[in-house]
Amino acid sequence: MKKTLIALTLAAVGATAFAYPDKPVTLVVPFAAGGPTDKVARDLAEVLRKGLNNQTVIIENVGGAGGTLGAAKVAKAAPDGYTLLLHHIGMATSPALYRKMPYDTMNDFEFIGMVNEVPMTLVGRSTLPANNYAELVKWLEANKGKINLANAGLGAASHLCGLLFQQALKIDMTTVPYKGTAPAMTDLLGGQVDIMCDQTTNTTGQIEGGKIKAFAVTTPKRLTTPALAKLPTLDESGLKGFNVSIWHGMYAPKGTPKPILDQINAAMRAALKDPEFIKRQEALGAVVITDARLSPAEHRKFVEAEINRWGPAIKAAGQYAD
Ligand code: ASP
Repeated sequence: MKKTLIALTLAAVGATAFAYPDKPVTLVVPFAAGGPTDKVARDLAEVLRKGLNNQTVIIENVGGAGGTLGAAKVAKAAPDGYTLLLHHIGMATSPALYRKMPYDTMNDFEFIGMVNEVPMTLVGRSTLPANNYAELVKWLEANKGKINLANAGLGAASHLCGLLFQQALKIDMTTVPYKGTAPAMTDLLGGQVDIMCDQTTNTTGQIEGGKIKAFAVTTPKRLTTPALAKLPTLDESGLKGFNVSIWHGMYAPKGTPKPILDQINAAMRAALKDPEFIKRQEALGAVVITDARLSPAEHRKFVEAEINRWGPAIKAAGQYAD
């Protein structure tokens, strides 16, 4: 009788412990609101909540230092499932860019699963005299020393893409860092900066509306999204092998209990099958992950492979921050 009581009490405690979440969950986006990472997070938050007891998923934008400030905040947060991180390729490129990192990418996080892959576009202010990639290159060569290239800080995807672009053309540009490419886009629209590399999730609408000029895509293949289909790849335009594609993944602070991680992973699997979510992502040129990389182990393996892939290229380019 006594044994049964203890078992019942433990079962009740267990049930309470696993009633996760019983309050809103914060999803940290390490870039400014309104930008490409933010857009993915907000779309995802809407569908993710269905698998999280219908709790609200609150987006907290912690921009700055190419995404490392937001990631550091999550690395130091309580490992209770109430603070999560949505981050992109910067998770893998930052370790090569910063001499001192505020966290250890492979050891301070739980990897939950990947979300999507997003191509980038090379875009420019609408007042640029160039109307295609060849004309852009001529303009860049004629304006050496006067070109402003916007990005979201050292470690951001826009930084990586811009760095490789400058290196390939052998033209140094003045980089103008922002807390995300949402504010960078505002300045591109206003003509304060000249060019930028950014995810299609941020540029498609502006390209469609004729508000900015688009010159090329950064993937090895042309895109099928109607507004972007006519853009050449940088590879076919002469920058052989140019290939930058952004991916997003979900993380929790190290030590978050496995049942909670499993629940978030299950919520993500369901969210990434949501037809509305898929449709919205595809309209912006993004491809939703449906493969093995949705498992924590494969996500971890992929990030490690990306660190090994980008580290040497970034170090060769010689750009560091303390
Ligand atoms: N697109 C940005 C980047 O360059 C990030 C953002 O603002 O979402 O990484």
